[in-house]
Amino acid sequence: MTLIEHWIGGKAHPNGTERTGPVFDPARGVQQHEVALAGEAEIEAAVAAAKAAYPAWRDTSLARRSQVLFAFRELLNARKGELAEILTSEHGKVLTDAAGEIARGLEVVEFATGFPHLLKGEFTENASTGVDVYSLRQPLGVVGIISPFNFPAMVPMWFFPIALAAGNTVVLKPSEKDPSAANWMAALLKEAGLPDGAFNVLHGDKQAVDGLLTHPDVKSISFVGSTPIAKYIYETAAQHGKRVQALGGAKNHMLVLPDADLDLTADAAVNAGFGSAGERCMAISVVVAVEPVADDLIAKITERMATLKVGDGRKSCDMGPLITGEHRDKVASYVDLAVQDGAEVVVDGRGIEVDGEADGFWFGPTLIDKVPVTSRVYTDEIFGPVLSIVRVASYEEGVELINSSEYGNGTAIFTNDGERHAASRTRWRWA
Ligand code: NAD
Repeated sequence: MTLIEHWIGGKAHPNGTERTGPVFDPARGVQQHEVALAGEAEIEAAVAAAKAAYPAWRDTSLARRSQVLFAFRELLNARKGELAEILTSEHGKVLTDAAGEIARGLEVVEFATGFPHLLKGEFTENASTGVDVYSLRQPLGVVGIISPFNFPAMVPMWFFPIALAAGNTVVLKPSEKDPSAANWMAALLKEAGLPDGAFNVLHGDKQAVDGLLTHPDVKSISFVGSTPIAKYIYETAAQHGKRVQALGGAKNHMLVLPDADLDLTADAAVNAGFGSAGERCMAISVVVAVEPVADDLIAKITERMATLKVGDGRKSCDMGPLITGEHRDKVASYVDLAVQDGAEVVVDGRGIEVDGEADGFWFGPTLIDKVPVTSRVYTDEIFGPVLSIVRVASYEEGVELINSSEYGNGTAIFTNDGERHAASRTRWRWA
């Protein structure tokens, strides 16, 4: 079993502790790697490497910095198939989904290649009598990135191309559940000409995270993950004087009006509910059906669900496994809860059997009708292939329900009524 080591100062860095975590192949349900979990020495080494590389990288011309990103873009585009294989093998998402994730990451790399223009400052002549004022956009120094398991390539790429283009140096702490993509991207950045130490990967758990949040040489933190951890990150890093951006979890609703095109709506519900096994922050997890639309819509959704092929993401299917057995069991517990809370399980994904891969972390597409809005099935982010239906009597009731959710991230309306559509833009409150 291979040990996935840290990447510090442009090369693999051995772990000083005995602590490791398991990395599974979720489609087979077996552990395939171990990942090093950092202790004090590795945290220090990663931050020190980034700090040492900072002055030279900061002083590297903008033109050169963007050339490195251009080279990274070319290499990534040429070799994205390799990265997709890694994502599917550790996360479980199907290869086409993995390719989509990389495409979204590439968009940010391409955006960052335009930084010579984006970093331009401003100049105001005679802001006060005889006083000119100018602004500069400058790097901060060492910046920390802490990313979730569900987009091991895309989420780091939301941040590091921008951070590097701006002249910062980076320590990335990826999810310990699917850590290999981070090392693969680090090696590619080196190949693209990035100086050693400008991008480092620190593997680990809470200890590594806390090390970054409290380290005096780390100037900012970019986090994506679940809401409770996002709050913890925001508070702790801010207490230690850092700039923080912390993006949390979601419960995304789609509101369906009786005049909607139900075939189109059912297609969208199935794609957005079950794509990537629902392990997407933008997954639709609640369909708010304005009566009398629910029965017809459910019939069309269940028809489509029956055609979804669940299996190993490497073998052309529609939906892969969940990330771990533990997470699969947690998702299953919400279906148990739905029954206890008086909801109707229309399609039950518990206990699904998949050809030839008995031990995979499988959970089939699940549809639950009449979910009470007081149930944790409605109020929690389940983060699996579970779509809830909530029936409401009117458009206004639906909008009110959606606006009272404590979560973002997104919402959608399905209707053929342009007036409703226009109203939705002005009346909806975004959490
Ligand atoms: P998570 O919060 O469990 O973990 C995220 C990161 O925080 C990981 O690197 C992990 O090692 C670290 N971490 C976990 N527990 C910690 C603790 N107690 N103290 C310090 N660090 C800790 O999230 P996840 O399960 O990896 O990812 C899924 C979540 O991410 C979902 O809630 C999803 O909605 C959210 N997400 C949000 C967005 C967005 O744009 N808002 C995008 C993708 C994912």
